[in-house]
Amino acid sequence: MSAFSKILLLRGAGGRHYSAAAQTQLREILGTQLAGIKDAGTFKAERIITSSQSTQITVQGSEKRILNFCANNYLGLANNPEIVEYSRTLLEKYGAGLSSVRFICGTQDIHKQLEQKIAQFHGREDTILYASCFDANAGIFEAILTPEDAVFSDELNHASIIDGIRLCKAKKQRYKHRDLADLERQLRESDGRLKLIATDGVFSMDGNIAPLARIVELAKKYDALVFVDECHATGFFGATGRGTEEYDNVMGEVDIINSTLGKALGGASGGYTTGPSELISFLRQKSRPYLFSNTLPPAVVAVGLKVMDMLLASSELTQRVQSNTQRFRTAMTKAGFTIAGENHPICPVMLGDARLASKFADEMLTRGIYVIGFSYPVVPQGKARIRVQISAAHTEAEIDQAIGAFIEVGRSLKVIQ
Ligand code: PLP
Repeated sequence: MSAFSKILLLRGAGGRHYSAAAQTQLREILGTQLAGIKDAGTFKAERIITSSQSTQITVQGSEKRILNFCANNYLGLANNPEIVEYSRTLLEKYGAGLSSVRFICGTQDIHKQLEQKIAQFHGREDTILYASCFDANAGIFEAILTPEDAVFSDELNHASIIDGIRLCKAKKQRYKHRDLADLERQLRESDGRLKLIATDGVFSMDGNIAPLARIVELAKKYDALVFVDECHATGFFGATGRGTEEYDNVMGEVDIINSTLGKALGGASGGYTTGPSELISFLRQKSRPYLFSNTLPPAVVAVGLKVMDMLLASSELTQRVQSNTQRFRTAMTKAGFTIAGENHPICPVMLGDARLASKFADEMLTRGIYVIGFSYPVVPQGKARIRVQISAAHTEAEIDQAIGAFIEVGRSLKVIQ
């Protein structure tokens, strides 16, 4: 009997809890749904990593190191010794956590320093930290938009943007994925007081890029604001890692940037909004995930601080992830694979069939390469793929090893000749 069942039984025996029947019902309802998810082949099993996050990892059940091509560790900083050491230093100096939200007694000097450094990195006036970018996205639309306003959202935006928009009272409009004609038509017809265009900078399933320069142009024409989620761009995309606005030559022209500290920027956790000072001050007053959730812990703030120092001093890592990406994309395309997206370290190897994608990923693992197959409903039916993610920390030899394994498996499964 599981510990959980024992607790239920004891509570029942004590006569103080009467929820056993309701819990049985809950287990039955969820159990049936879980069986349905498994039958559909969309159950997400989690592989348990027994090492730090890196290009080479070990997983439970095996001593062997495997090459990791599926983390968002774009700059390879997740186990960087200098960052870990600095995190330890601030952990010792500032303690484990604040036991408070920011506005009660949870703001330390290091939180303010990190906010300033992020603003400096993006060339913005101010920044507000959140526990995650999911929270930053959940907290912004509801705080600033009223029923008089209108928000225009790319149909393939990240789930957290979709949820954030659901919470607000503005008129909600969805435009077709990266379709500027559709966006323009909707902007033209809108009588919103504030008009806010919301888009991912980089769409993580396809590795494709929002047409930001032309979105900015439309925003100017129709007097709208532009919001960009830069989770898959900050720190490594664009010539010096400033993100999609740098890549598309519109530096400083986006009104609001939300991004994460949980991917390229050290991979710990945390998110932020950066932009005009009035916006940031207002969010500190009104944004619910900020007001009602605990402060980022000092050890996590330390990661952000050290990464920002590194990126403000040099864009060498950014250049390395870009050249690694070119190496992978060029060789894979030459070998006959179709790689979706453009110039981005998210390299989806398109396979079409869901079972093929899953078999392909399994075969890669037997060759020591860890990649993940994505299929419906995460991506559209018939568009299953293996999403490869390149890091600055991959060596050229590691990338070539992955390419070699792809070619071998691709030939044996008749994906390429
Ligand atoms: N936005 C995008 C585009 C993402 O890919 C993610 C993470 O998967 C998030 C937001 C949420 O970021 P965080 O992990 O900081 O909550």
